[in-house]
Amino acid sequence: MSQELILLKCGEIALKGLNRRSFESILLANLRHRLRRIGKFSCQILQSTVTVDCLDPDADGDEQTRLLGLPTKMDRAYDECLRVFGFVSAVRAKGCEKEPEAICRLAADYLAPQLRAAKTFKVESKRADKSFPLTSPELSSLVGGYLHKRFPHLSVNVKHPDLTVRVEVRDRAAFVHGDADPAAGGLPVSSSGRGTLMLSGGIDSPVAGYLMARRGLRIDAVHFHSFPYTGERARQKVEDLARIVGRYAGDVDFYVVPFTHVQETLRDCCSPEYFTILTRRFMVRITEALALRAGSGCLITGESLGQVASQTLDGLRATDGVAERLPILRPLIGLDKEDIVAYSRKIGAFETSIEPYEDCCALFAPKHPKTKPKEEELLEEEAKLDVAALVEDAVAGTVLTLLRYGKEKTVVGALSDVSSPDSASPRESV
Ligand code: ATP
Ligand code: MG
Repeated sequence: MSQELILLKCGEIALKGLNRRSFESILLANLRHRLRRIGKFSCQILQSTVTVDCLDPDADGDEQTRLLGLPTKMDRAYDECLRVFGFVSAVRAKGCEKEPEAICRLAADYLAPQLRAAKTFKVESKRADKSFPLTSPELSSLVGGYLHKRFPHLSVNVKHPDLTVRVEVRDRAAFVHGDADPAAGGLPVSSSGRGTLMLSGGIDSPVAGYLMARRGLRIDAVHFHSFPYTGERARQKVEDLARIVGRYAGDVDFYVVPFTHVQETLRDCCSPEYFTILTRRFMVRITEALALRAGSGCLITGESLGQVASQTLDGLRATDGVAERLPILRPLIGLDKEDIVAYSRKIGAFETSIEPYEDCCALFAPKHPKTKPKEEELLEEEAKLDVAALVEDAVAGTVLTLLRYGKEKTVVGALSDVSSPDSASPRESV
């Protein structure tokens, strides 16, 4: 029997008209980047379907890993494929010559475990190759009849079968597979550009990063850290969260901003009731400076309307006002906490997010923060400070770490010591 392969159906990019080619090439580059660390794979796109073949399957090795209950190369590749944005569904399949008898035999042999487990089934066929001698219904009924003979316990149920056997006659070969799994959806990472995620140690911001990566943004993550008030474990937790976002977003550039001096200055020079909102304004200014430096096109936060005092319309306006050149995207703005938690669990971030380490936001937080701060009042408070110098110092002291998918991290160091910014790459990887 032929070797197994993976079929991935493209989602929205199939509708991209003239731009489709460039979306497809980013999608393939992202996929190859993911699979490279597992083995040698060939990824080809045809008729909005990507076929992934393993070129170094190492059959004995795989057999042994199977006996030991470990995932094979194909298992691992499939798992990766399910997290690559741009595909709507994924399925493992086998191919054979475009010949009716070969197709029947392959369906019975390859899908034998599922066919044995099912009580009802149906066959669905598709012909992309119109020169194939049978029509789709004729092929379905031929394969169905053959399977019925080989597995007499089965009965046909066209409305709600336990198993749908699918046959696809394509240009290259005929493929047989069972039901497909839903894949990650969205657009290929980097196809929409680059976004700078404000990443805290909470539940919300990793989900925001995941959602915007799904809309095709490559993600840089910026974290504000107030050492020694917030410790190394808190920083490490956020790095772990950046890695979790990276399981979907691929490579992530991770910036840690030294925020102690800004926060102490605000505590010492400004009225306490404005502390929270002023802190957030500084976060946005610094993040925007870092984003512009990296060639990113937007800021991303995990804010949701009304969730806390700083996320009221007035609070949001107060932070929007200081982002001078880039938009702030807030993908969670209309979601309830419950929805956000469901996403957080789905992407595997929840257990890490609830680890109990202090965030710098909780530091020096006033008992009675202003919920409706007036623009003039904020400007009056900030007039007591050298805002530009505080922003510049924080940016210069920011430490950049490259989190490359599936690899050890590389600490680049403080930005004041880094000559040129990490160039904006058109792909998920640099
Ligand atoms: P989260 O669960 O993401 O921490 P939150 O509900 O705790 O969010 P806030 O603390 O008000 O809300 O933060 C709102 C947003 O501001 C966060 O979603 C995140 O994008 C950003 N943010 C907060 N703290 C930090 C931080 N220390 N570093 C970077 N960004 C931060
Ligand atoms: Mg928080």
